[in-house]
Amino acid sequence: MGRILLSLAHMGGDEREYVREAFDTNWVVPLGPNVNGFESDLEQWLNRHSDHENYVVALSAGTAALHLGLVMLGVGKGDEVICQSFTFAASANPITYQGATPVFVDSEADTWNMDPELLEEAIVDRMNKTGKKPKAIIPVHLYGYPAKLSQLMAVAHKYDIPVLEDSAEAMGSTYDGLHCGTFGRFGVMSFNGNKMITTSGGGALICRSKSDADRVKFYATQARENFPYYQHENIGYNYRLSNVCAGIGRGQMKVVDQHVARRNEIHRMYVSMLSGVDGIKVMEPKADKPSSPNFWLSCICVDAASIGGKDYTQLSALLGSHDIETRPLWKPMHLQPVFSQAPAYVNGVSERMFNCGLCLPSGPMVTDDDVDRIVSIIKGFAGH
Ligand SMILES: *Cc1c(COP(=O)(O)O)cnc(C)c1O
Repeated sequence: MGRILLSLAHMGGDEREYVREAFDTNWVVPLGPNVNGFESDLEQWLNRHSDHENYVVALSAGTAALHLGLVMLGVGKGDEVICQSFTFAASANPITYQGATPVFVDSEADTWNMDPELLEEAIVDRMNKTGKKPKAIIPVHLYGYPAKLSQLMAVAHKYDIPVLEDSAEAMGSTYDGLHCGTFGRFGVMSFNGNKMITTSGGGALICRSKSDADRVKFYATQARENFPYYQHENIGYNYRLSNVCAGIGRGQMKVVDQHVARRNEIHRMYVSMLSGVDGIKVMEPKADKPSSPNFWLSCICVDAASIGGKDYTQLSALLGSHDIETRPLWKPMHLQPVFSQAPAYVNGVSERMFNCGLCLPSGPMVTDDDVDRIVSIIKGFAGH
């Protein structure tokens, strides 16, 4: 039996054809027909479940998308940006690229995402302490679980602060019938190796207007002004997705819905097979509106106290010894040494989850038999 991985990329079959076309037509350069095609595929796919038109710019990484989102929102030196603490470091790092300060806000226990009440508390307290409003808010849909968007957006509107939605893990998740990533002023997608779809590496920024998308493309291609020579009036970046990588993305768009369905199936298996097992709880997010997570990763919480003090690290080691990959939940940003100086508004939720949680294999390559094997090892661990 081979190793069971957390979230292995899975090719649909047409990727090779698009990449071959790029070679055959000598478009092995950045930009080209696959980039335009991939962007319009993404737009059409998003617009199926959206209350407005979306414009997508394909970029070299989700991190680049977050960075350009902040550039577009005018975030700069001396600004503060509110960011979910319970996330991967890439949500927060680009704030520092702009010379701004991240302000971390903890999660609520229902979806593991930014707590709307704590968000408001943080905004009011920052305004009192600094005399200035935070410049942007970065909520995350952790593991593809939609955040309490209507409450978060209401707070953002109340204080008129733009939202940069980090939906890097939430491709295919919907909230109130609409795609995650389409609620904020900008939304972030990631096509890294283990995300919902891959371009081997890549990302995108979802915009609300063509003029925003054009401006993002301008920044992503070195901020070249429209002159017969190279004229620069802004600092630019080299952040566009290559035409070869976009070819992989075009193929992946044909299987993305299948991947979402399969990850949901795997999640339902974990839920039903582990129900009633003492000390093991599968995360079932409950948003404030009907929502449909992509279940990018299924996560469990190990309650050591109810199974003789054995904790999630021991379960992870046991599964590892059976060639099954797991991963601890993201370590909250307010606990990271690199962000020790950043202001944080904390309620204990993310730290508690970090101290019990494990992500289980959830990718489209995971078979029903794999799930059986994983579940029986977990049951054995919990003394069932
Ligand atoms: C993966 C990820 C990113 C960054 O995306 P890359 O494409 O890897 O740069 C940002 N935020 C979150 C929450 C992620 O999981």
